[in-house]
Amino acid sequence: MPKRIVIVGGGAGGTITGNLLARNLHHQIENGQVVINMITDKPEHVYQPGFLYIAFDKVRPEEIIRKQQDLLDPHINLFIDPAVKIEREKNVVITKSGKEFPYDYLIVATGSRIVPEAIPGLKEGAHWFYDLQGAQKLREALKGFEGGRVVIAVGVPHKCPVAPLEITFMLYDYFKQKGMLDKVEIYYTYPINRVHALEPVANWAAPQFEKKGIKYEVLFNMEEVDPEKKILKSMEGTHLNYDLLIAVPPHKGAQVIEDSGMGKGGWVATNKQTLRNEGHNNVYVVGDTTDIPISKAGSTAHFESDVVAERIASEIQEGGTMTEYDGKVVCFVETGFDEATYVWFNYKNPPKPTPPSKMLHWMKLGYNRMYWLSARGVL
Ligand SMILES: Cc1cc2nc3c(=O)[nH]c(=O)nc-3n(C[C@H](O)[C@H](O)[C@H](O)COP(=O)(O)OP(=O)(O)OC[C@H]3O[C@@H](n4cnc5c(N)ncnc54)[C@H](O)[C@@H]3O)c2cc1C
Repeated sequence: MPKRIVIVGGGAGGTITGNLLARNLHHQIENGQVVINMITDKPEHVYQPGFLYIAFDKVRPEEIIRKQQDLLDPHINLFIDPAVKIEREKNVVITKSGKEFPYDYLIVATGSRIVPEAIPGLKEGAHWFYDLQGAQKLREALKGFEGGRVVIAVGVPHKCPVAPLEITFMLYDYFKQKGMLDKVEIYYTYPINRVHALEPVANWAAPQFEKKGIKYEVLFNMEEVDPEKKILKSMEGTHLNYDLLIAVPPHKGAQVIEDSGMGKGGWVATNKQTLRNEGHNNVYVVGDTTDIPISKAGSTAHFESDVVAERIASEIQEGGTMTEYDGKVVCFVETGFDEATYVWFNYKNPPKPTPPSKMLHWMKLGYNRMYWLSARGVL
């Protein structure tokens, strides 16, 4: 009987983990000792950081979409059939079509999704850049925007913690390029008592905002939007008039996680070092769906994938390894249209943003293109 590895979710984390496992275990797969099955819900793989550039018409959708099958090592069996139930007591995943996938090892990589409907009026009154359609709609709204107040508002939790800063800095350069800065007020809001969750990043970003004349309000948690009157209300009692509202909607994990009783809100209880689902030694979790209090980012998913693939391959080949996740996250942060900064941090070391430079911006653009190598487990 072969060891059966099932991966649920064919996004960044699931794809990298699957490809690394296939590479490490290709002898065992070819000998019939290991089988890797990937279950995902759509045939395309989307590079989500590209949405930011779609909003400013700098990238076309075709550049950020690939066929999932083309990204996978041929040793992996792909099933486009959403998982509807994960039964950990029976070690089986059940899909929408009724198929059952028994497993010896399960990797949960179902990511996170936006839930704009969690805030009354947000869907009707706001724009966002957190999915392809939203980014395209925002692009059209920006093209037709003639001036006024642009409010940026941030729901929690959400993936890519630096994206609200990036959109704000890029909006500044967009209006500057169009010669509209005198007609536009950029107004950034943030839910806690500083402009970013990571304190060193907040300390770096606030003076940048002040230098550019970007206004900001902290302790601002979205409560309700009135799309008719164009007013955004906060739980703290502030009412903000807007002409264009750009929101990061709050997020949840996948529905299948909640439906399987694996975690409230779709967040799976995960050991921050081993990346095992707490209480389930043969279940690993990668990417946004973990409940680890760390950035939900592609780089997080990537570094976690390295650890999970190494642990499972080693368990199968030699009985185990001490490899653990150290909390590493790396992010290039756009600070406009032609400069970026860079942060890296882990559980022990806080981030230290470096001075923005053109070189870091080009490195971010370079990585955007190299992502496909990363997904294939090459980079
Ligand atoms: C605008 C934007 C900018 C970003 N910028 C950056 C950045 O600069 N740097 C960075 O590191 N990260 C960035 N990110 C975040 C990054 O894209 C995510 O953190 C990363 O994709 C998480 O990987 P994941 O595998 O956990 O989830 P995903 O990549 O979202 O993959 C989850 C997969 O699971 C599938 N799935 C869900 N439910 C089911 C089911 N029931 N059955 C089967 N399959 C299912 C989904 O369809 C999806 O394919 C950005 C994200 C956005 C939206």
